Amino acid sequence: MKTLTQHTEVKNDQQFDVNKSDSEWQKELSPEQYNILRKKGTERPFTSKLEDNYDGGTYTCAACGNELFTSDAKFDSGCGWPSFYDALDKTKIVVQTDSTHGMARTEIMCAKCGSHLGHVFNDGPKDKTGLRYCVNGGSLKFSKK
Ligand SMILES: [Zn+2]
Repeated sequence: MKTLTQHTEVKNDQQFDVNKSDSEWQKELSPEQYNILRKKGTERPFTSKLEDNYDGGTYTCAACGNELFTSDAKFDSGCGWPSFYDALDKTKIVVQTDSTHGMARTEIMCAKCGSHLGHVFNDGPKDKTGLRYCVNGGSLKFSKK
């Protein structure tokens, strides 16, 4: 079974490969994408068209195109957001502890541009990794195989 710490913890002064100013991001992303990716927003549950998408393909970061997840690890968690039991690779994602909303949660971010994706929890499928990557559909782009 994998642990939540399979990914590197982000550093306070971390420099990302893709490093853009706030106004550049605002120009490139839709208002919804910008709110999720750059302002750590959360889309309302059951609103993403990717939530019940089970086509084969790859999910990339909507901000920088970094490949994050594949359809092979997608599962129906019933939580209302696209859910995966594993990342494409442990180097694709960085994590940090998020203690907002009175809970200690593990935030997941794109390792290439630092954009917010969602959170990872340890209540995923027990016969797989035991992890549940709960990801905002608005932070992802899907490319069909
Ligand atoms: Zn990215």
